[in-house]
Amino acid sequence: MQPTHLVNQINYKHFTTVQNTNNIEFDKQHIWHPYTSAVNPLPCYEVAGAKGAEIKLASGENLVDGMSSWWAAIHGYNHPLLNKAAHDQIDAFSHVMFGGLTHEPAVRLCRQLLDMAPSGLQRVFLADSGSVSVEVAIKMAVQYWACQGRPEKSRLIAPRNGYHGDTFAAMSVCDPVNGMHSLFSNTLKSQVFAPAPQTRFGQAFSEDDILPLEELFESHHHELAALILEPVVQGAGGMRIYHPEYLKRCRQLCDTYDVLLICDEIATGFGRTGRLFGCDHAGISPDIMCLGKALTGGYMTLAATLCTEEVAQGVCEGSPGVFMHGPTFMGNPLACAVASASLSLIAQGDWKQQVADIGKQLSAELAQCKELACVTDVRTLGAIGVVETKHPVDVAAIQKLFVAQGVWIRPFGKLVYIMPPYIVSPEQLTRLTQAIYTSLKQLYG
Ligand SMILES: *Cc1c(COP(=O)(O)O)cnc(C)c1O
Repeated sequence: MQPTHLVNQINYKHFTTVQNTNNIEFDKQHIWHPYTSAVNPLPCYEVAGAKGAEIKLASGENLVDGMSSWWAAIHGYNHPLLNKAAHDQIDAFSHVMFGGLTHEPAVRLCRQLLDMAPSGLQRVFLADSGSVSVEVAIKMAVQYWACQGRPEKSRLIAPRNGYHGDTFAAMSVCDPVNGMHSLFSNTLKSQVFAPAPQTRFGQAFSEDDILPLEELFESHHHELAALILEPVVQGAGGMRIYHPEYLKRCRQLCDTYDVLLICDEIATGFGRTGRLFGCDHAGISPDIMCLGKALTGGYMTLAATLCTEEVAQGVCEGSPGVFMHGPTFMGNPLACAVASASLSLIAQGDWKQQVADIGKQLSAELAQCKELACVTDVRTLGAIGVVETKHPVDVAAIQKLFVAQGVWIRPFGKLVYIMPPYIVSPEQLTRLTQAIYTSLKQLYG
């Protein structure tokens, strides 16, 4: 061991270099952000607080949040009931291991989840994040068939333009071209991809839409464990809103060909699309369902993988007889307590009218964006509004304009989209839609 004074000296030197910068500068030099460069990072804004539908920057501006912190903060920030649930649980206990122990917050949460989930889902696996819940879903599907004596059924099929997360198995089912993961293609399991659904929500369903998937099921079913997709809205893979009939047909194909159906409701769950779950638009139930994002109302990370009793039993037949997954922080009581409070708010039902009202206002107010030459499409569903542009937008430039107009919106590629907290006021929502119109017009005409 080194003498203490030497260790101190060395640490102290390093300490001064990293302390000699303000927060933004330190952040720029030392901290990774989602999908950003260490060499040429985009500007970052420092947050001082958040309340209701607004985020307050350290520089003083109040921004109406158009993103719900990536679909999560559906009830708004600093919600008294969610705060209370967190405080109460901290005072009881923040965490205990879930191996061999259980607790009231987890039991209460899982009761609520099964109560509201599409019928047939009977078992809950609590996971740490959306990506992990997708890993768990894929492992369940693969283990299910292995335990049925059909280990060759180990591939997944997925529509193109999907997004299911950033971990390895999740990456393997994301869109293989724009899925942000092409660098890793050599290390990913090769999955089967179908063309993305084409018929838009609200159009007349075209039979042609399902034919390619049908053909792929016919030729690959013997090796397919599951079909994985995002019901009705494909999120980060393109913000595409498609016809629920496509989902219905997927359910039928899965039944016909002995393939499990995994619905990834991580973005669409908990009312965002106007129904409690995306599946509800089609009246179908999946065999396995992933939930995340809004599960804790945006307070902390928690996700869940639900499955039917048949899948649960099937996974545990034969050897090894247990489901092979168990995260350290599984069922974190603090996260469960807040999630349970969030689900209680949803159970009160105000979200239905709120989402419907947001939807009406979004489609009325975003329509003017269609006049802009730089815009190719405007689409909305539930409390989701999407403006698609001809060319990718300059995120740093447009964000500067957004902040100047008092809104927080983070576009990616050609997509400027918003999904505000359900409690957003009509005035706040107008600020968001006006900022999109004005900024696009100013930058691209
Ligand atoms: C965000 C998202 C994920 C990944 O969730 P993380 O919590 O970011 O790991 C998976 N699937 C869908 C549909 C998502 O929107």
